[in-house]
Amino acid sequence: MAKQPDRTGDVDIDRKSRLRIPRQVVHKQKPQERVYNFNEVYLGFTEETAKIEASRCLQCPDASGCSLACPLHNDIPRAMWHISRGEFLEAAKVYRETSNLPEVCGRVCPQEKLCQGSCVVGKRDQPVFLGKLEYFVSDYERRTVGMSKPTIAPSTGKRVAVVGSGPAGIAVAEELIKRGHAVTVFEILPKAGGVMVYGIPSFKLKKSVIADKIQYLEEIGVKFVMNTTIGKDKTIDDLMAQDGFDAVFLGTGAWTPTKLNLPGEDLKGIYMATEYLIRGNLDPEYLPEGFKTKPEAGHHIAILGGGDTAMDCVRTSRRLQIQSGITDGTVTDYYRRSEKEMPGKPEERTNATEEGITFEFLVAPVQFMGDENGHVQKMELVRMTLGEPDASGRRRPIEQKGSNFVVEADTVICALGYNQDRLLEKTTPDLKVDKWGCFIVDKATGATSKRGVYAGGDAVTGADLVVTAMAAGRRAAVAMDTYLRS
Ligand SMILES: Cc1cc2nc3c(=O)[nH]c(=O)nc-3n(C[C@H](O)[C@H](O)[C@H](O)COP(=O)(O)OP(=O)(O)OC[C@H]3O[C@@H](n4cnc5c(N)ncnc54)[C@H](O)[C@@H]3O)c2cc1C
Repeated sequence: MAKQPDRTGDVDIDRKSRLRIPRQVVHKQKPQERVYNFNEVYLGFTEETAKIEASRCLQCPDASGCSLACPLHNDIPRAMWHISRGEFLEAAKVYRETSNLPEVCGRVCPQEKLCQGSCVVGKRDQPVFLGKLEYFVSDYERRTVGMSKPTIAPSTGKRVAVVGSGPAGIAVAEELIKRGHAVTVFEILPKAGGVMVYGIPSFKLKKSVIADKIQYLEEIGVKFVMNTTIGKDKTIDDLMAQDGFDAVFLGTGAWTPTKLNLPGEDLKGIYMATEYLIRGNLDPEYLPEGFKTKPEAGHHIAILGGGDTAMDCVRTSRRLQIQSGITDGTVTDYYRRSEKEMPGKPEERTNATEEGITFEFLVAPVQFMGDENGHVQKMELVRMTLGEPDASGRRRPIEQKGSNFVVEADTVICALGYNQDRLLEKTTPDLKVDKWGCFIVDKATGATSKRGVYAGGDAVTGADLVVTAMAAGRRAAVAMDTYLRS
């Protein structure tokens, strides 16, 4: 539960005058310039505009909606109070009390559904830019004094293995090292950070943000063992029985792409989203063998899907297309429901539209047609209408018979969601999973069916969010600490 801010200072909290403060503009790179680079699109607040924007917060007297809507329960009004007074380092500290990655959440959380979606100012006007202020102060702290080092409890002599270095693994590692346990993170890929590095493009979240966090974790004692697949190079049982780890956390995410199973899906030029994003966005030093060349970006690029991943693909492929000299090409996102049902962040759709991407709603692919070299050339689609809501609460798309049509498509990217990798389940027979392969855990603690083994993040919930993965990691760390001390 959020603590209330100390309001004994000299800031006027007359709510009516606060409501009259205009929302501050967050500047962006111009679309015609940013499609030529992979730098962050948002240029962020200045110190002055940050103070003004934070002054729009009404400092709601009761437990605030924004804090309750944040999965980490960040004390947002207290942070806003400090920002409005120019106390940026104090504000950064407020976020770090409850979050391991405020510099990431501020950039990529769907704030319109979480904190900002519950902002009282939003009922009369545009809500306070809570996310952009969160990363403004976190960046300010990193830039001016660096992330402050926590107090580390005396060593307990216990050792923990964390499998996976995404937000769930990072949260567990940081919280357990603070509590005096030795932590080693094992990761398949060459660099740590999970989807934050290997999925989310740099124009939304620059790589240096995660690199700084990993360096900070190393400085406070977390060990990283890269290029190591648990379940292949060694099993969970090896970690516990041979390597002497007292507990294990599984933060392995959800990385197996959903396939379409349509005719022509194996043609050249058809990619799964993660492969496209990894090869399209990252410098070779980040890339595992076999992924080091850039993917194709044709004249007519088709992206299938409507979530954040699809938006990342349209914008990445647009940049690659332009960088390869194609300035008259098209990039089209095809989605089987209407815009209203799209799960991704609306702000990212606006950014995509500004960058020249077009959308075709209520359509689904039927097959892909290739040229004589086996390369995709065209795609057949069918139109859909919307029926009753399905299990997800969104209206079910229904095919309109006979409405098929064909479009040019020489690069196709499938961004249809992710499933679990079944490797750990196969190599650890006493680890229970559900029918989708998600680890079954106690919701409050993250404890799995195997003693001493905990799990959290996408590996438990299926594909979700950075903030929910981090929250799960923090919950598990508290329970693991109790387990390790018992
Ligand atoms: C393209 C894309 C864009 C996204 N955009 C957003 C967004 O804008 N906002 C948002 O909040 N969320 C977004 N998400 C979702 C978000 O990134 C994930 O929900 C979050 O990263 C999950 O965190 P995690 O720690 O559970 O797993 P991950 O971040 O997936 O990390 C898991 C790590 O475990 C490693 N690993 C897996 N198996 C093993 C093994 N056997 N041995 C060793 N290591 C292993 C993986 O290599 C990976 O590094 C996006 C996801 C994708 C794919």
